[in-house]
Formats: sequence, C-alpha cells, structure tokens
Amino acid sequence: MTTPSLLILPGDGIGPEVMAEVRKIIDWMGAKRGLDFDVSEDLVGGAAYDKHGTPLHDDTMAKAQEVDAVLLGAVGGPKYDVLDFSVKPERGLLRLRKEMDLYANLRPAQCFDALSDFSSLKQEVVAGLDIMIIRELTSGVYFGEPRGIHKEGNERVGINTQRYTESEIARVARSAFEMARKRGNKVCSMEKANVMESGILWRDVVQEIHDAEYPDVELSHMYADAGAMQLTRWPKQFDVIVTDNLFGDLLSDLAAMLTGSLGMLPSASLGAPMANGRPKALYEPVHGSAPDIAGQGKANPIACILSFAMALRYSFDLGDEATRVERAVEQVLADGLRTADLMGPEGGVPVSTSGMGDAIVAA
Ligand code: ATP
Ligand code: MG
Repeated sequence: MTTPSLLILPGDGIGPEVMAEVRKIIDWMGAKRGLDFDVSEDLVGGAAYDKHGTPLHDDTMAKAQEVDAVLLGAVGGPKYDVLDFSVKPERGLLRLRKEMDLYANLRPAQCFDALSDFSSLKQEVVAGLDIMIIRELTSGVYFGEPRGIHKEGNERVGINTQRYTESEIARVARSAFEMARKRGNKVCSMEKANVMESGILWRDVVQEIHDAEYPDVELSHMYADAGAMQLTRWPKQFDVIVTDNLFGDLLSDLAAMLTGSLGMLPSASLGAPMANGRPKALYEPVHGSAPDIAGQGKANPIACILSFAMALRYSFDLGDEATRVERAVEQVLADGLRTADLMGPEGGVPVSTSGMGDAIVAA
C-alpha cells in the first residue's frame, strides 16, 4: 500500500495556530498507531501573496491535484483588504475549489453532549443531534448566466440565473446517497419545485437516481422553506440533507448554529472519484481567519481537528481512527476543558489553543 498523501495549507490568521494542533495528532498517529502520512505543507491566501504575489502558486495548485487530500486552515485578514480582487486571499481558496471541481460541500451538524447548553434551542431538541448537509458547490444561481447589473429604460436591473444541468444534479445526488449508506440510510432533498423550474428538475433527477441506483436508501423531498422550519423545530428527523448551492448556503449555516460555536465546525468539499476510487477532497474548518484573536493562543483548534477526522474517514478509509479522534474531542469537552469561545455560563477549565490540542492528543 502506498503512503496516503496530505497537503496542508495553514493559510492566514489563526489557520497556522489550529493546524499546529492537527500536526500533533498526525505525529501521535505515526508514533502510536503506526500510521504514516506523506505530509507536505505550502502557502495559501495572504501568506502566499506575501511570498509569491498570488494567493495560490501554480505549483501549489498542481500539488493539490495530486494528493489524496488537502487540509486548509483559513485565508484572509484586514492586511489584505486593500488588494485588488484578483489577488485577494479568498481567491486562492476559490481557485482550489474550482480547479479541483469540488461539487459536494459536506457540513456536519453534530451536537456534543457537553456543549448542548450552548445551543440556542432547547436541550432535548439538540442533544445527540448528528446530521449532514450536502450543498451543491459549483453551480446554481451563484454562477448561472446571464448575470449582471444593467440599465432597462431608466432604472437598473440586477440579474442572476439559477441554472442546473441534469448531470450536475445527478452527481451531487450520488454523493448524498453514498453518504447516507455510511450513516442513517436516509436522504431528504430540498428545493422549491413549487415555484422554480430548476427545482422541478432537481426533484425529478434526485428521484430518478434514487430509483435506479439507490432504492435501498430512504428518500424524501421537502420545499426548502419548510425544510428551514423543520430544521429548527425538530432537526433530529434528518440524516443527510441534499440541496442546491443557494439553499445549501443558508441551510448549512442554520444547521451549524444549532450546535454551538464556529470553533467546533468542520467541513469537507468533495469532487469526482480519483484513480484510487476516493473523491478529490479539500477539508477545512467552517470558521475564517479570525484576525481579532489571531496570535493570542485563543483559537479553538477543534473545528480543524474534526476536519482532519473527516479526511481520515472520507479520503483515507480510516473511519475507526476518525472515531478515535472524535471520541477524544468528546472526552476533553466532557472533562470541562474550554477555549474562550466555548466558555459558557456554566464555566469550565480555561485552556489555550495548544492546551486543547495537547489534551486531545492525551485523550
Ligand atoms: P471569513 O470572512 O474568513 O469567513 P469572518 O469574519 O466571517 O471571516 P471568522 O474569521 O470565522 O469569520 O470569525 C468570526 C468570529 O468568530 C470572530 O469573532 C472570531 O474570533 C470567532 N472565531 C472564529 N473561529 C474561531 C475559533 N476557531 N476559535 C475561537 N473563535 C473563533
Ligand atoms: Mg465568514
């Protein structure tokens, strides 16, 4: 077996700080579990701009296309606000997503028992919650043509076009059904087939893929507005939710916040299967570079650590090892360890970024 390869792109702000904690886990896995990764590290975002004058060097892009998985910290910061749009740090991340053609964005919303008092919802609604939102990431209204602002008579008109092809819907539907088979075997597809043509096609194609290839998975359809309501009323009714780019943008943020802090939330963006049968993949915490706390040892590394756990599960076929990492996170939270963002009314044991990483390794 060849050694699995991982490209680490720490990026800007708290990115390098939280990534250092993932490194500790990787080192531990090598030393204690005999699991070696071929790890390389490179620059992205503002850090890449400072060195190369571009937020993503071509060599880094090429490397990202070769490896089994990319793990990214965060990009951006106030220092780069003045830059031209074409070289802004965020463009580095967008280029990675686009050229790797990462069409399925996975956002788990999982509630850790120790933090369930953290949610805006009642304990019984969120305790034990574990759902996965899959958002189509490369098409839909953010990309459709025609688009723009132009003059019609004597007023301006702003135009965006929601456009989906059958194959774009089919491939993300397959991602959802595959995911469901590894989880609770249930998919809910959300659109607005009552008012949108693309919604009608979405519903039809998801149903067709289901009937032809995944009849064993339980499938339901819901209008996205009703879905938003149900997500806050009783989120545990869902397992995997699959939806388009726009609705997914809203619903995944909504679902994420059912469970608490931004510092806890991982994500994965997956593309087409590679030669080894596993998808092209980029893993990253949902949070940004958090310039307000960067360099102070305050950042919560858990979102990045859980993103690495997703890589273990979805890119390296190491589901048991992923569970091991997730259990360790649960353990330290149950022990009361809290970075500042997790410090609620009930208090806890304050820890720094590296204190949290060390405790997770120990657990
Ligand atoms: P971006 O545009 O890059 O998404 P943003 O300003 O929307 O950035 P973040 O950089 O994620 O969002 O920061 C939002 C708030 O959440 C900030 O106050 C930040 O300090 C806090 N925050 C984000 N990530 C973490 C973390 N890992 N640990 C602690 N606090 C965090
Ligand atoms: Mg943001």
